[in-house]
Amino acid sequence: MLIDTHCHLDASEFAADRAAVIDRAVSAGVGAIVIPAVERANFEAVRHLAHSFAGGAYALGIHPMYVPQAQDSDLTELESRIQAALDDSRFVAIGEIGLDFFVPELTTPPLRLKQEAFYAAQLDLARRYGLPVLLHVRRSQDTLLKHLRRRPCTGGIAHAFNGSFQQAKQFVDLGFALGMGGAMTFTRALQIRRLAQQLPLEALVLETDAPDIAPAWLGGPGQARPRNEPAEVARIALVLADLRRQEGDSIANATALNARRVLPRLADPGAI
Ligand code: ZN
Repeated sequence: MLIDTHCHLDASEFAADRAAVIDRAVSAGVGAIVIPAVERANFEAVRHLAHSFAGGAYALGIHPMYVPQAQDSDLTELESRIQAALDDSRFVAIGEIGLDFFVPELTTPPLRLKQEAFYAAQLDLARRYGLPVLLHVRRSQDTLLKHLRRRPCTGGIAHAFNGSFQQAKQFVDLGFALGMGGAMTFTRALQIRRLAQQLPLEALVLETDAPDIAPAWLGGPGQARPRNEPAEVARIALVLADLRRQEGDSIANATALNARRVLPRLADPGAI
């Protein structure tokens, strides 16, 4: 079985054909799809969507790119949503949270500090409720790690990970798995492909980040931003298998086990 550990299935890009997208994922062998929230406005949407199909799961959190418009009261709302979801077996993590130091507007001092404050506050929530986190990591590895050391939590997934082997090891030592997706399918992505080959398989999970980070085989010249979808995780698994010279099935099963280990609430996909 395959697990897409990171898919924005509630995105408007799927509005017209979401049911067909889910059907294709199921046909491709995807048994569970984790849908992270990005802002207060979609907390209810991801919960509702995760309950609408077998294998749906969700996370609640405020994404760093949505921090500029977020208010402190959104954190209060997040905490009450978390409390309400603790008995919900489809609720699996706090996310998507993290830091984005790639988008220039987000790195001006006031917004950088606001990002760090929202990240730290959400790590506190993760600690308080014993939940794993789904991390957005963009040019922010060391600062993310610094906060994680101050507020050790129960681990989770560093999604769309890109960084050095040393940085990857530090996340793994803190109980994280690294999300491997579309970026790994580009032959020029040397650093990510090296990580995919050299890290222990126990450290890796699969993801699409759909509708974003389309793999190399989607689109083509003239199509600027092809839409990714969760069914692609099947072919992404084969790329990882090729890179590691292993069988596709064993990669699928091992990464699914890893996903259940770092997201323990996802432990029994049969039950959801
Ligand atoms: Zn995401």
